[in-house]
Amino acid sequence: MRKLLMIPGPIEISPAVVEATSGAPPSHVAPDFIEAFGHALTAMRKVWLAPDDHQPFAIAGSGTIAMEMAATNLIGPGDRVLLVNTGYFGDRMAKMLRRRGAMVEELRAPAGSAPSVEAARDQLARGGFKALFATHVDTSTGVRVDAQALAELARAHDALSVFDGVCATAGERFDMGAWGADVYLTASQKAIGLPAGLALMVASPRALAARKILAAPPPMSLDFQEWLPIMQAYEARAGSYFSTPATTLVRGLAVGLDEILASRAEGASGVEARFAAHAQAAERLRRVWRVLGLELFAEDALAANTLSAIRYPAGIDTKLVGAISERGVIVAGGLHPEHKNAYFRVGHMGYSITQPEHLERTVSAIAEALAALGHACDVDAARRELAS
Ligand code: PMP
Repeated sequence: MRKLLMIPGPIEISPAVVEATSGAPPSHVAPDFIEAFGHALTAMRKVWLAPDDHQPFAIAGSGTIAMEMAATNLIGPGDRVLLVNTGYFGDRMAKMLRRRGAMVEELRAPAGSAPSVEAARDQLARGGFKALFATHVDTSTGVRVDAQALAELARAHDALSVFDGVCATAGERFDMGAWGADVYLTASQKAIGLPAGLALMVASPRALAARKILAAPPPMSLDFQEWLPIMQAYEARAGSYFSTPATTLVRGLAVGLDEILASRAEGASGVEARFAAHAQAAERLRRVWRVLGLELFAEDALAANTLSAIRYPAGIDTKLVGAISERGVIVAGGLHPEHKNAYFRVGHMGYSITQPEHLERTVSAIAEALAALGHACDVDAARRELAS
């Protein structure tokens, strides 16, 4: 049997998305491709909970390219940025912004924790910040920040806010319109549920205006100004060309976003139901980890719903990841440079959280591998907890 991919991205994808992203590639100006691209852009606004005046961008690329697009369209040399840093991807954003010539002030916290909202408020109150950047969920620590509070604070201090949602978008609640965030970016291989290859983001009118008056233009291939007429044309159902889109992936994006928007749960529908499903799956898995005597790397109150970063229990080390793989499930090792041998990571986002069998196989493989390596735990109790 094929091993199940339960790392924090790339993830298992639905059969409909597999079908849409395979087969003969469409032309970028074929009528059915134009329809799919236009449809996907409109659907992005719904998944991002963004108002009609917000602009979606979907370009060929990775999460890092999405980060660079946001950083270079909004920030120029000498601009002051407040960075709420919760781990590996916060460090990457700091480096990227500094290369751009920004003056970056970082708020940091011990690994597994997050800087307080009060610390961000105090810093912003000193004035002069053009933007606040934060990672919604840091994939290296499993820490989720309070994106709503940070976005609202930035607004109150007349600063732009940019959130890296690569390990969060469509899995963690984010209400772009209500919270007043200016850029929410992601990549296709995580909770969006596609193969890797698309850089995705929605930008507010304030973000587009900031680009317009930026003295140092961003690299041409990432420029909002170059891409804006292209995205607008496709959404108006007209073909257009600046740089060839990843046509097969865009065809998949339309299908994948529709699946997310078709989600139903008690009292919720659309992306809200998807958020709720992630929260429920994560809650159940956290109960399972407790039954197995495991602890999270992140503080409990900050634990993300899209992945679990789990500390190796006493007597167990990085060999666990291989032992889980031998049992048919691929999980990931640690990523935080200073602590990577202290924990492993399990992704629980997108298609897999809609498939009880994926979660059962994951829990069984982890529990059996732990038991085989000598950790005292009750494998059946873990399975029962998942089912309860
Ligand atoms: N930000 C976060 C939070 C991520 O998890 C990742 C990828 N793991 C990235 C950025 C970078 O994305 P990519 O690997 O697609 O460049």
